[in-house]
Amino acid sequence: MTLPALPEESFQRVLCVVAHPDDMEYGTSAAVARWTARGIDVGYLLLTRGEAGMPNLPDETARLRVAEQQAACAVVGVKHLTILEHPDGILVYGLDLRRDICREIRRFKPDVVFGGGYEIEAPWGFDQADHRAAGLATLDAVRDAGNRWVFPEQIDDEGLEPHSARWYMTNAIPGSGATHGVDVTGEPLRRGVASLESHAAYLAALPDHPAPKDFIPQFTAMSGKAMGVEHAVLFRAHDLQAPPEIPTEETQD
Ligand SMILES: [Zn+2]
Repeated sequence: MTLPALPEESFQRVLCVVAHPDDMEYGTSAAVARWTARGIDVGYLLLTRGEAGMPNLPDETARLRVAEQQAACAVVGVKHLTILEHPDGILVYGLDLRRDICREIRRFKPDVVFGGGYEIEAPWGFDQADHRAAGLATLDAVRDAGNRWVFPEQIDDEGLEPHSARWYMTNAIPGSGATHGVDVTGEPLRRGVASLESHAAYLAALPDHPAPKDFIPQFTAMSGKAMGVEHAVLFRAHDLQAPPEIPTEETQD
């Protein structure tokens, strides 16, 4: 079955929440480049500055990686970048994280929240602990943001309003839960590759890392087959405003 295109007409604002500088740049930013070119407003919330990701001293690494993330955002048209200072490598799932993500959702008012996923095993192996913590906290914060009685101080003292996003999305690969695709053939893919290349010092510290121009197009070509285009990025998208699915005998194995 060919995957449908994500219904871009149903959203104007997308907030992407990830743990580290560079997490958006392994393919997802190619979809972001397409969206911003179409006038969709995309914001990134990074929970850490990625200070534990290089051999350099943490303060120096944080400065470097924040600057590289700013460059990566510019390449794909992202104007709203918020970077928090939760500790890299030991990110903890909990109310602090949910509160901070909830605040950004209430501020940015996205139609779509993209999160990094929360499974222990990812298609490429065991996922990193920060990614799991960030993914689960993002999923929960999407619901928190719509409830006036959760983190009410943000409403009473910070002047924010409850906000309910329409979509919650994570990355997906062909045959593994993908529901929609985004065609990134051409300019979006070029920008997506360039956005990972913006993390030049970080990548230089990983000598075995493949060149972005080699592996990202390979990966998007594989995903493209699932939606019948040359290059695509796939997502698992949940429509949070759809009526809940009630299990029936037909839907049970
Ligand atoms: Zn990461």
